[in-house]
Amino acid sequence: MCGVIGVFGYDNVATEIINGLQTLQHRGQDSAGIVVFNGSFKMHKGSGTVTNVFKHFPLERFAGEIGLGHVRYSTIGSTEAVDAQPIAVNYPYGLAMVHNGNVVNFNELRRKLYEEHHRLLDTSNDVALILYTLATQLEKKDLRNLSVDDIFDSVQKVQEIVQGAYSAITIIANKGFLAFADPYGIRPLVMGRKFTDKGVVYAFASESTTFDFLGYELMRDLKPGEMIFIDNDRHIHSKIGVTKQQAFCVFEYIYFAREDSVIHNRLVASERVRMGKRLAEKFRKTGLEPDIIIDVPNSAYFFASAMAEELGIPYRRGLAKNYHIGRSFITPNQQEREKMVRQKLNPIRDIVCCKKVAVVDDSIVRGTTSKRIVEMLRQAGAKEIYFISASPPVKHPCVYGIDMSVKREILASHYEVDEIRRYLGADAVIYQDLEDLIDLYKDLPICHACFSGQYPTGAAEEALEAIEKEKLESDRV
Ligand code: AMP
Repeated sequence: MCGVIGVFGYDNVATEIINGLQTLQHRGQDSAGIVVFNGSFKMHKGSGTVTNVFKHFPLERFAGEIGLGHVRYSTIGSTEAVDAQPIAVNYPYGLAMVHNGNVVNFNELRRKLYEEHHRLLDTSNDVALILYTLATQLEKKDLRNLSVDDIFDSVQKVQEIVQGAYSAITIIANKGFLAFADPYGIRPLVMGRKFTDKGVVYAFASESTTFDFLGYELMRDLKPGEMIFIDNDRHIHSKIGVTKQQAFCVFEYIYFAREDSVIHNRLVASERVRMGKRLAEKFRKTGLEPDIIIDVPNSAYFFASAMAEELGIPYRRGLAKNYHIGRSFITPNQQEREKMVRQKLNPIRDIVCCKKVAVVDDSIVRGTTSKRIVEMLRQAGAKEIYFISASPPVKHPCVYGIDMSVKREILASHYEVDEIRRYLGADAVIYQDLEDLIDLYKDLPICHACFSGQYPTGAAEEALEAIEKEKLESDRV
């Protein structure tokens, strides 16, 4: 998963982009980068968090009123700085791009780009495939008189050729600012504006929370298959290109996006409350009577508190979190992951001691977190422990940019709920039902491939194989 931002303003935009990236840091901490255009592209990127990458940033050399920023969370592709975004090419136009998502037919694209266009890609990063595919389409147009129709036609070809999830922002040097989404609209991308003395500044970002911080007004989300081009006179052009049945990633609402973001006119926090209330209905049917409901901080707060409200059971903060520890989920080996969960979370003893505790997390993937939590709660004296997952059983890897590990490590791929309960050592395990989740999103078609295995785009097999291969390689290191 990644976070992207693009700003088309009047003054230098670098500071604003870096500040914006800080608000998207939860979407990726592996690398960060910026590009600004001012007659030529100036790029700065590196491995690590925004603070680390921009610690010694030479701001004075980054003048420019149009720019892009990116934070990366590596899925396919290495975590090395060479794969960090943005990336840029000089031919046929100066083009720079950032994207969020994951391309699934990359082998085919790489082969095509080489065989048909003699472009040999030196990166495993899929944004290069999108950028070069766009460049090869633009190359076919009248380079001196590139029109908006030419640009849209080229993007449409990209949407026909590139399969997977992508929400991309592009600078076309001396022409304007382009954003486009894949035909399914899998990843979020919002458009905003700010009125200044010099004129209207436009921006695109992965999440609206960025706009809150930077003082932009949220205009709208990009629709599936939509492309928006803002020309140098700041006129906005938009068109729906290739479009399919929408499949917005529901895991954005469950876990990934910040709770204060608004995506498709829905506040993420409110979505979590809705899911929590639905979970409460299922929980009620179990006849279990917990004394308290606690959350696994922080993403589960709204699920847990909404459930508690609905069931009339007190909500408490029963686990303290150390906010200064890295991410346990992507720590490569299992032993390290377990240790990290222990360092990250600690039961608040008097809250849980001698009580029947219902503990809510957003998801169970490998079960590392949940198993350790159950152990810790027992050690702290909890009488009974009911583990509740706000998402349905995760059974399949995500090929669209969220790290869901590989199938062999995903608990619910191989075990039934009662076996999972035994493995976790809990007295009950309750998952949200997939049917309930789908029912909650009757009016916003979602991608639920990680629960159902129904991958909306083609070529998922290719991506699944690559994820397996990459995992094997990283296990060997
Ligand atoms: P696991 O320990 O493998 O079962 O992972 C579940 C825990 O990781 C939950 O506490 C989630 O909040 C968190 N989580 C779930 N999906 C992801 C993800 N894609 N990236 C990082 N953390 C995640």
